[in-house]
Amino acid sequence: MSIYAEAINFFGVAHQVGKALEEIAELKEAIETFGEGKDTKDHVCEEIADVKIMCLQLRIMFGNDIVDEWKLKKIERLKRLVSDE
Ligand SMILES: [Mg+2]
Repeated sequence: MSIYAEAINFFGVAHQVGKALEEIAELKEAIETFGEGKDTKDHVCEEIADVKIMCLQLRIMFGNDIVDEWKLKKIERLKRLVSDE
């Protein structure tokens, strides 16, 4: 079992969804304050890591396959947007 699945089993789905929202808010705040020159790049990176960890738990909670399908679609769309064609 991955550490992400272990965390969900240990803390529970509701708790980890709440934690995800908390970490997303922290990243938003860090990016904004960094943009104002009031926060460090290292702190933004820390918050990115927190959100990545929580996103990998959300992926398990909401459905690995569906998230992966959407990710493929979004990447394909991004490739089209940045291509010259
Ligand atoms: Mg955090």
